[in-house]
Amino acid sequence: MQVHTVGDGAPEVAVVGAVHGDEPCGARAIERFLESEPDVDRPAKLIVANEHALERGVRYVDTDLNRCLPGDPESDQYEERLAAELMDEVRGCVALGIHSTVSYDRPFANVAYLNERKREAVAHLPVESVVDFTVVADGRSVELPGFVDIEAGHQGSAAAVDNAYDCLVAFLQTADVLPGDPPAPDPDVYEVTEPIYKEPGRTYRFRGENFERVPAGERFATVDGEDLVADEEFWPVLMSGDGHDVLLGYRSTHRGPLSTLPEPEHGDATADPPADEATD
Ligand SMILES: [Zn+2]
Repeated sequence: MQVHTVGDGAPEVAVVGAVHGDEPCGARAIERFLESEPDVDRPAKLIVANEHALERGVRYVDTDLNRCLPGDPESDQYEERLAAELMDEVRGCVALGIHSTVSYDRPFANVAYLNERKREAVAHLPVESVVDFTVVADGRSVELPGFVDIEAGHQGSAAAVDNAYDCLVAFLQTADVLPGDPPAPDPDVYEVTEPIYKEPGRTYRFRGENFERVPAGERFATVDGEDLVADEEFWPVLMSGDGHDVLLGYRSTHRGPLSTLPEPEHGDATADPPADEATD
């Protein structure tokens, strides 16, 4: 894990790239930021998390880093040890994790257990959509009390690097690390209700568009050429036939613009998430 610090003092702000090694946009955006030799008003950490997986161009080496937080320093699995190191680095920080996907080209934000500082962070990212992953957040960075993630665009694309960089700058402006005003686009919020898993050995094709409503009764995918039909309406999130070994994607409900959501009930930024609600 690479940890770069800009500014003087103990950082309370972090940006984390390459949690998944086959999603290089975060590491590239961090390099671009460091090469710009930025003048900062507050210190910040820039972390390239999974260097071994990044070198190999694979999602992970032993296990998925974004499913095994808070990790275990004694584990024989590389990512479980790395997760524990990452926890030590981001403890007490407001943090932005940078990801990319094969399912969608435009950037969007992922959150869980929305609290005041997460809401502040996602309200000022250059994104059109925010996805609430609370029901499946177990072991993921978004479960942490100060962490929000972005999906910056298509995996491996130059556009994903540009989007990641723009989100990094906006996030650091919101956190008062960089001068200037971040955008305030009032993104739409989608709340994940359940994952849709694949059956092994079968070929899936997604026939809809992510973030676009699938009405009840409409075909949204095919499996070995047979139709998969929605039993009730939903909005697909991170859905693609070939993005993930066992997961087709997620069903969500559309909650409306972020500004219309009620203020978080548990605004305490240091509050721990409930321990037993995650199902994934
Ligand atoms: Zn990822």
